[in-house]
Amino acid sequence: MDQTEQWFVQLLHDNNIMISDYQVKQFDQYYRLLIEWNETMNLTGITEREAVYEKHFYDSLSLSFFLDMGAVSSLADIGSGAGFPSIPLKICFPHLKVTIVDSLNKRIQFLQHVAAELKLADFTCIHGRAEDVARLPGQRDAYDLVTARAVARLSALNELCLPFARIAGVFAAMKGANSEEELLEARKSMALLKGQLRETHLFKLPFEQADRSIIVIDKKGATPLQYPRKAGVPLKQPLV
Ligand code: SAM
Repeated sequence: MDQTEQWFVQLLHDNNIMISDYQVKQFDQYYRLLIEWNETMNLTGITEREAVYEKHFYDSLSLSFFLDMGAVSSLADIGSGAGFPSIPLKICFPHLKVTIVDSLNKRIQFLQHVAAELKLADFTCIHGRAEDVARLPGQRDAYDLVTARAVARLSALNELCLPFARIAGVFAAMKGANSEEELLEARKSMALLKGQLRETHLFKLPFEQADRSIIVIDKKGATPLQYPRKAGVPLKQPLV
């Protein structure tokens, strides 16, 4: 293990996540694929090894510091991009049945390649807009946990993500600083999409000390038929 891997394993250990040498290797493989594919397509602006481990891998895994992944079976990651947060979560918690939704087909192709190389089972990638995919059979009111990182403001994100969560399931939005402001703006969309705020967790990344927040929302009822609205509308005309 190199130095980056050593502190990564230690930081996870400090958060009660123990990973094997095989899982450490999977993260290394993922890092190498990310850098290789990033040369020909836009996957991430962060490429330095330590920074990827902190700002992508550790940050993605922070969801599991606050939510019990042992109690989660199905996970949907909306707007996953290069695989964050779901691939780090899948590596650490292989029991998860992961579904990724992203509107950019090139990123979906990258994710399918990563899944094959890392031998990730129960891993499905769907190319499409969340607004359309949420109306496909088996996708609506279906997942134990739905998450999204760096996709949209919460007012729009509620409409993109809450339709995927099952009744009594959870939507956890991964955010940076100023989540209070976003929460105020998102009150209406949360109520219309049958979400109820449970709590917000605030923390900092270990080295960069950048502020992060995770907004945990409980899904209280079935998604009303009119939501999500047509693709593009939630972002252009958020329910505020
Ligand atoms: N979650 C990743 C992360 O944290 O690095 C990627 C963030 S990237 C800024 C946003 C991603 O959301 C892009 O890959 C984009 O294609 C996807 N996206 C944006 N709007 C979407 C929508 N309505 N449905 C599905 N994917 C969407």
